[in-house]
Amino acid sequence: MNPGFDADVVVVGGGISGLACAMGIERQGGRVVVLEAEARTGGCIGTSHEQGYLLEAGPNSALDTTPLMASLFDALDISIERVSANPEAGNRYVVRNGALHALPLSLRALVGTPLFSSRAKLRLLIEPFIAKGAPNEEESVADFVRRRLGDEFLAYAINPFVGGVYAGDPRALSIGAAFPRLRELEQAHGSLIRGQLFGARARRRNPEKSKQSAPMFSFRGGMQILTDALARRLERVETDTRVTHIAAGNGGFELQAAGADSHRSFRARAVVLAVPAWIAAGLMESVAADAAKALAAIPYPPVTVVHSAYERSAVAHPLDGFGMLVPERENRRILGALFSSTLFPGRAPAGSVLLTTFIGGARQPGLASLDEAEIACISHAENASLLAANAPPAFVRVRRWMRAIPQYNLGHAARIGTLEQAEHAVPGLFFCANYRGGVAIGDCIKSADRTAGAVLTFLRRTLGSARELI
Ligand SMILES: Cc1cc2nc3c(=O)[nH]c(=O)nc-3n(C[C@H](O)[C@H](O)[C@H](O)COP(=O)(O)OP(=O)(O)OC[C@H]3O[C@@H](n4cnc5c(N)ncnc54)[C@H](O)[C@@H]3O)c2cc1C
Repeated sequence: MNPGFDADVVVVGGGISGLACAMGIERQGGRVVVLEAEARTGGCIGTSHEQGYLLEAGPNSALDTTPLMASLFDALDISIERVSANPEAGNRYVVRNGALHALPLSLRALVGTPLFSSRAKLRLLIEPFIAKGAPNEEESVADFVRRRLGDEFLAYAINPFVGGVYAGDPRALSIGAAFPRLRELEQAHGSLIRGQLFGARARRRNPEKSKQSAPMFSFRGGMQILTDALARRLERVETDTRVTHIAAGNGGFELQAAGADSHRSFRARAVVLAVPAWIAAGLMESVAADAAKALAAIPYPPVTVVHSAYERSAVAHPLDGFGMLVPERENRRILGALFSSTLFPGRAPAGSVLLTTFIGGARQPGLASLDEAEIACISHAENASLLAANAPPAFVRVRRWMRAIPQYNLGHAARIGTLEQAEHAVPGLFFCANYRGGVAIGDCIKSADRTAGAVLTFLRRTLGSARELI
């Protein structure tokens, strides 16, 4: 290694994207240092334990969408820690007129469900005959779904689902960027229903699983098992090290970082930016001004997570499901709630239940920043009304994400195109975080793997055969 360099690669940000990318590079002989601003790694992934409850600040579960996940867990020796979602958590409830209805998962259930009117069900029958959209035209999720499946399906299936995944607004999200598979199904088969029916064989052959069919899992000790194991395995992870400035030049990058009580600088041949878009925007100002502008335009609405611990006897609903989603049209004050103690074992002591409620999002950003007492009040009032919680929770914990999840809104593909141009223009610069390639943990692992491959190609090209990098 050139004596002027501290590492081949500096990865900025120690969330799942940065850590998994660093591991991919290190496994192939690259020398990596991960710089993480906070005292702990994990980013959005964070598990805590209190009074016998396991509380997830961010993701409660992941979907096993790619074989890369199993191979990563094997390499980290954490496969044994993995737990599958309880089969009894199969119901996904959607609220309509103040009552919970299981989302129909079969044709028979669809015919019988009161979640959709007969008119809405009949409307689905004409979907295969609706012309597909122009291939290059960008369309919002709302326009796409209304055009193909009708307004009621948008209101009572897609709108709550979008609230659950992105905490987003279907009128603002781009179908091609936020749900590329739906867009591809339409383009390939001319219809979502035909695509579901005729694409089944191809899907079975594909080792990648769609989010509808992928098994859901977590780890016995919570999602943070994953990022902790990654951080332990990596050679060099520097926490409490906030990168404040990046400059490109002299065959590499120079990074300035602020620690608890010191200032440090790092030099490397390549930089992977694995921080949220608004942070990356600030760091890119002097390196790639267009990329900085594109990154700054990616919105992240706030979400507040409320953990409510109840005596089992205090909640009349059987909690026999994954959780409940609330459509915007219902005019309620939550996006939804997970039945966390049903979903995985060991989330609550015997005789108790744990509910995890989400408030705010693009739909009601103002609610996310109410004070804790008001948030707790809203959450319990909704649990009382929807789940017949008839006594106050034993305890409530509130975790705020003032900028929670990146929105793949209209214009997102162009913004990502600008980042790709910057990667070409500035050799050794890479962007790898959840604003690109999907927000789910499986998507982040896939993007990390792709980025690690690109970084290794760059290093091999730069170093030629002169280095032991294989
Ligand atoms: C409330 C919530 C619920 C979610 N639920 C699910 C779910 O159920 N299933 C699922 O699959 N996904 C879920 N997600 C999405 C998923 O958790 C995230 O998309 C994913 O964890 C993001 O990982 P990341 O590494 O890209 O970014 P982050 O986790 O944001 O990591 C970025 C890291 O960069 C660090 N950083 C920031 N600035 C600097 C700096 N200047 N210098 C150095 N480091 C810096 C941060 O401290 C952080 O550690 C959820 C997200 C949230 C917020």
